[in-house]
Amino acid sequence: MKKIINADLIEKLIDREDLPSKVEVLAALERAKELKGIGLEETALLMRAGRAGVCLDEIYQASGEVKRKSFGSRIVLFAPLYLTNDCINNCLYCGFRKDNIEVDRNSLSVEDAIREASLLEKTGFNRLLLVAGESPKSSSIERIVEIVKAIYQNTGMRIIHVNAAPMPIDKLKALKASGVGVFQVFQETYHEETYDKMHTTGPKKDYRRRLYALDKAMEAGFDDVGMGALLGLYDWRYEVLALIAHARHLFEKFGAWPHTISVPRLQPTVGSPIASAPHPVSDEEFKLIVALYRLAVPAAGVVVTTREPAVLRDELLHIGVSQISAGSRTDPGGYSQDAERFDASQFKTSDHRSLEEMVAYIASTGHLPSLCTSCYRVGRTGRSFTETVSHQEMERYCLPNALLTLKEYVIDHANGSAAICNEVIERNVSLISDEKLKKATLAKFKEIDAGKRDLYF
Ligand code: SF4
Ligand code: SF4
Repeated sequence: MKKIINADLIEKLIDREDLPSKVEVLAALERAKELKGIGLEETALLMRAGRAGVCLDEIYQASGEVKRKSFGSRIVLFAPLYLTNDCINNCLYCGFRKDNIEVDRNSLSVEDAIREASLLEKTGFNRLLLVAGESPKSSSIERIVEIVKAIYQNTGMRIIHVNAAPMPIDKLKALKASGVGVFQVFQETYHEETYDKMHTTGPKKDYRRRLYALDKAMEAGFDDVGMGALLGLYDWRYEVLALIAHARHLFEKFGAWPHTISVPRLQPTVGSPIASAPHPVSDEEFKLIVALYRLAVPAAGVVVTTREPAVLRDELLHIGVSQISAGSRTDPGGYSQDAERFDASQFKTSDHRSLEEMVAYIASTGHLPSLCTSCYRVGRTGRSFTETVSHQEMERYCLPNALLTLKEYVIDHANGSAAICNEVIERNVSLISDEKLKKATLAKFKEIDAGKRDLYF
């Protein structure tokens, strides 16, 4: 059986020191702009060029262009909801690890989870990412399923994604049946030796169990899966190429790119034996990583969370990021508390802007803040999602759906941001080139004004 990660090939690619010519770099960027994805050799070529500053501006411009061709100017906003900080694993970089005696443990009841989700809904969020470690007591699959169903029944949350431990097919099927959209499992590090060192005890120590978790999820019926490597544990060049190899494996096997690629970077956490990243990633390297993911896997949502500082997140809007979180708390129950409790958090967040502040900022940059969830509702998922993006047709949906959700947001939630949102709505309506679609969007605006909600294409 073909291995997902060919470590020898990746090592060879990152050991190469020859500098590509400008012509080679521009040719690779042209291929990336076709939205079919680029392979490891081409990604490694762009990586070498970017690190040496060869055509770096062109690389960033191309990644911004690929993002626009894939999803237009919209930036999707979501919120994480941490269910528990109980865990049976011992990941050395995580505040929730089993042997950490400094963390203040807390797990949400079903009622707590509903309350937290309602608070997020009241600020305007429509999509939620439930995050759970691995704990048979506090985050069993049955419990996650119960919470997902309860949130759908008791709040207006429109789509719930889950980031959890690998699970057997029957449990994955139950999770899918509860209405979950995307199932995420991050490999953390694709480098086996580092993986073994970082995961000292618990089921997560099994590298292959984690590596094949997304195959299992897709076999169980999840069209959409999310992946990520935690930057800072090992050489980022290895992690990026390995993650792209993983994405290509899923595409070749299931005909769909991963739905999301998250780009987390190691942050300080309470009680961690790792005081600083063993392989630090600079902001400049981080930007290049985002660009490479975007160019290599154009249909994926590239996600940067509030781990990263505001200034960097703002820059990334122009070079390929398509989804961001806002106002996040990583301490379970945190949305009901006034202050962030670092001693109960998974890691320290850096960008503390609220949803409204993010919406206003995104709008001020010429991008389009979006609270859309339409693809999951109409079945534009998996292979169909990938094909829609590669035929350059997704933007046709992203634009009007972003406008519909922004219009709702202005009426129901906006305070100081209403003026700029209205300006953005007006400007973007005129960008809908299909007259029929424009008319249909304006008709839906009237329905929203009349009190209807949750309208989409
Ligand atoms: Fe548990 Fe996840 Fe933290 Fe590891 S990273 S200790 S699995 S919560
Ligand atoms: Fe995402 Fe689909 Fe909505 Fe575009 S139309 S923002 S891809 S859910």
